[in-house]
Amino acid sequence: MRRKMAAGNWKMNGLAESLDEISALTALHQNATVDIVICPPATLLAAAAEIGDAIMLGGQDCHENNVGAHTGDISAAMLADAGAQCVLVGHSERRIDHAESSAVVRAKTNTAWHTGLTAIVCIGETKKQREKGETNDVLAAQITASVPQGANGLNTVIAYEPVWAIGTGLTPTEEQIADAHTFIRDHLARRHGKQVAESIRILYGGSVKPDNAEAIFELPNVDGALVGGASLKAEDFSIIVTALEGA
Ligand code: PEP
Repeated sequence: MRRKMAAGNWKMNGLAESLDEISALTALHQNATVDIVICPPATLLAAAAEIGDAIMLGGQDCHENNVGAHTGDISAAMLADAGAQCVLVGHSERRIDHAESSAVVRAKTNTAWHTGLTAIVCIGETKKQREKGETNDVLAAQITASVPQGANGLNTVIAYEPVWAIGTGLTPTEEQIADAHTFIRDHLARRHGKQVAESIRILYGGSVKPDNAEAIFELPNVDGALVGGASLKAEDFSIIVTALEGA
């Protein structure tokens, strides 16, 4: 049985005062039956780790090396040292803004694993690719190139995030989400074996909000969500967590 996960990606948002949101979320979900993750900016990780154990913490990216001359980058080891248990890799904003290829994402995933972090590997098609009927090909290629052999349910989570649904208020139809998640599970089974594929959680991401979360969580092969905007406020994210607990 896969434990569900609600992960919040704060992106480049959050100052010290935002730690109050993590405190509030912690108070609301002391005995959660799902994994709750917040990926704050790296500057807040160490302070967030002081708040308690109810909420897991994640980085938003890591370098493929753990030390070295890489000005401005952050390593998986640094994230772990600051209290993170997982890290997002291959978010479309990294793939686009920083021209990250799937080969780079794969290297980052490997480094995260070797550092003891769970890699939340993000994949997803652009609007143009969906319109051209290329969604499954894109997802297959991204999984093949981004997820190394050795993946399992402890070290890897997949986040399916259609690029066109991120931060836009647009979401795929329920059928499109279900189809993509089932395709991803099947492709993981082809690459990593059925048992491993059944153990890996697949999150949906892209404009998940308190009012659409429940319907999304009912869909087959959806094991939770990666949430951007709606994770910034504890009140909103808590509704999503509660919906996931009830799914
Ligand atoms: C994201 O940043 O991964 C995301 C899904 O953002 P939003 O929920 O705001 O669309």
